[in-house]
Amino acid sequence: MAVISSLLFPPSSFLRRSITICSNNTSESMATKKYISDGQTSKRVVVCGGGVIGVCTAYFLAKKGIAVTLVEKSAVACAASGKSGGFLAFDWCDGSPVSPLARASFNLHRSLAEELNGVESYGYRPVTTLSLTVKESSKPISGGSDLPAWIDGPVKSPSTIGTTETTAQVHPQLFTRKLLSTATKKYGVEVVIGKLEEVRVELGRVDSVLLEGGRVIDTDAVVLAMGPWSGRFEMLSSIFRVYGTKAHSIVLEPKEANAITPHALFLTYHPSNGGQALDPEVYPRPTGKFRVIFRYVLA
Ligand SMILES: Cc1cc2nc3c(=O)[nH]c(=O)nc-3n(C[C@H](O)[C@H](O)[C@H](O)COP(=O)(O)OP(=O)(O)OC[C@H]3O[C@@H](n4cnc5c(N)ncnc54)[C@H](O)[C@@H]3O)c2cc1C
Repeated sequence: MAVISSLLFPPSSFLRRSITICSNNTSESMATKKYISDGQTSKRVVVCGGGVIGVCTAYFLAKKGIAVTLVEKSAVACAASGKSGGFLAFDWCDGSPVSPLARASFNLHRSLAEELNGVESYGYRPVTTLSLTVKESSKPISGGSDLPAWIDGPVKSPSTIGTTETTAQVHPQLFTRKLLSTATKKYGVEVVIGKLEEVRVELGRVDSVLLEGGRVIDTDAVVLAMGPWSGRFEMLSSIFRVYGTKAHSIVLEPKEANAITPHALFLTYHPSNGGQALDPEVYPRPTGKFRVIFRYVLA
């Protein structure tokens, strides 16, 4: 999930400094722990948003020994992070500024899957990825092709655009929830279901967050990772624009789940009525279900 939708306050220099943990007694209350960072004392980071970005941020901060509270307004992975394809690609961002990030993310997924038993717990697996053109008006293929047997529609020009070395998938909701449950059990992350209303700043430093209903959580730093909702906060929208793109996804359950091989499909679909071509993406899950995604970018 390579979309970056979070911003760290204070800026990332806070994290780049080396952090020394004064106590590694895990039974100690996280709230009373003190951490020294270049002579500064830091008690707590509040991460706002329980999507994949917020949860990963909380996980890795807490793993480094920082006391983290995650604030989520409704349910963890309830938005895009629970409904996405969960598709991962090693080198598809090559040539763009985020290429090193995408490559590091792909490798990190592989090592996380080993650490958290991702194959069993959230369906991590390498996949072969195919590009296909589908013409609804053409005849279905009838055997003899190199394609997996379950691809029997009117397809043309198949090509392999990702191998099991360069493309993979996770079940995004299970991934996000597994990471958070590990973060709470192992690293003491506290989860608060509540809606962020305001980030309070005193003398140029973050001081606390105010939740709907009046609850205040004192903090030394805040991470805004609320996906497209982040743009509602002037603190962030004054720096750059955060917006969503609309996508539809449907889940299909095939009759013979075991017949479905680990292949992700990127289609160019020409409807028989001559309408505009569509680009659905098809992601089979290890459970046998499919997620089919249609993306639309709204101007
Ligand atoms: C259909 C679809 C398919 C996709 N497929 C892929 C894919 O295959 N591979 C890939 O890499 N990416 C994919 N993406 C993109 C990816 O899912 C997103 O980039 C990613 O999930 C964004 O995560 P996030 O944590 O930034 O935001 P979100 O998942 O949107 O999470 C934001 C969270 O913030 C919470 N929140 C909002 N306001 C507040 C508030 N005031 N206080 C507290 N909490 C709040 C929300 O409830 C939500 O849980 C897809 C997206 C879609 C929609």
